[in-house]
Amino acid sequence: MNILVINAGSSSLKYQLLNPETQQVLAKGLCERIGIDGKFTYKPEGKQAVKEADVAMPTHNEAIKAVLDALVDPQNGVIGSMKEIDAVGHRVVHGGEKFAKSVLITDEVMAAIEECNPLAPLHNPANIIGIKACQALMPGTPMVAVFDTAFHQTMPPVAYTYALPYEYYEKDKVRRYGFHGTSHKYVTQRAAAMLGKPIEELKLVSCHLGNGSSVTAVDGGKSVDTSMGFTPLAGLPMGTRTGDIDAGILEYLMGKYNMDIKEMLNIMNKKSGVLGVSGVSSDFRDLEAAGKEGNTRAALAVEVFEYGVKKLIGSYAAAMGGVDAVIFTAGVGENGGNNRASIVSGLEFMGIKIDPEKNKVRGEEIDISAEGATVRTLVIPTNEELMIAIDTAALAK
Ligand code: AMP
Repeated sequence: MNILVINAGSSSLKYQLLNPETQQVLAKGLCERIGIDGKFTYKPEGKQAVKEADVAMPTHNEAIKAVLDALVDPQNGVIGSMKEIDAVGHRVVHGGEKFAKSVLITDEVMAAIEECNPLAPLHNPANIIGIKACQALMPGTPMVAVFDTAFHQTMPPVAYTYALPYEYYEKDKVRRYGFHGTSHKYVTQRAAAMLGKPIEELKLVSCHLGNGSSVTAVDGGKSVDTSMGFTPLAGLPMGTRTGDIDAGILEYLMGKYNMDIKEMLNIMNKKSGVLGVSGVSSDFRDLEAAGKEGNTRAALAVEVFEYGVKKLIGSYAAAMGGVDAVIFTAGVGENGGNNRASIVSGLEFMGIKIDPEKNKVRGEEIDISAEGATVRTLVIPTNEELMIAIDTAALAK
């Protein structure tokens, strides 16, 4: 079964054609600058990547058309015809409280996704445009929506309720939703396989640490708490996002510098996090290099981030009444050996201890625990596209 996975943003579209049974990726790539000057990248398996600039892509329809043309191209294509695409899986950021699982897309489902737009005004409308473009070009092909929020719908009220007047939850659905759900679901399932235990018997802390970061407590295969909130601005400090800060700071800074809420949120989303503290970069590799050269603000930015992750591991172990394994995934989690070592240092009292040699390994699933550790520490490369393809194949069948 071949599944086309689409992740549509406002001016970009990532795609991958893969077989979820064999896990073979037939082709993948990226359409960028949609509506501007169109950049197209296509990489068929085992062949050179094709890169084209100035591709006419006034809308997402032309971008999807370029993807489909490339997939069936006589020279560089990977399938004979579009009939070999059995279904399309779409990443959708926000499913609100309506979607606790992936779902086959119908007219009613589209209407329900649109109702979630106010919860993710930057992301959901773009996801919907991607779905509509595929529907127009591939009528009759089953389409599935896979939500970033769905995995976290198992959180109990005690974890998702904000201490605001309750009517804001009842009337306006203001609550913790959580994001990166597809990634947390994938790596916790892989962790159970690595540990050779049913996921129902495991208490896991999943650390998705990348440009955006979140930590999730997964008890018995269910998300029971997560660090992102009503929006992906909450929780850990990230590449350019603040994470949690005292809301009182907003009034103080907005008053002092005569900023409106848009300017304030722009600072909190785009100019803060490790970039804001360091003044150097949002990229953890740059920060490590700058820190080594004696830049104390770069070093502090990384420490603030690592300290945040450490505290979440401790608090989620407390929330679950124990922990069997801590998982590291995404750009920093998979590659940042020094970051991992700093995060778990001092957690020996909980039974967490890593082996410095094993901690050097990159890009593969590995248990990096030291001998005698009673809580395992696992590095698991995430694969959101595969998770989307698995869900899509199951529903399309
Ligand atoms: P992601 O959002 O998952 O693509 O992760 C991107 C982040 O991973 C960037 O901040 C990169 O700096 C970081 N990253 C990639 N390789 C490394 C590495 N070797 N050490 C630390 N961070 C890394």
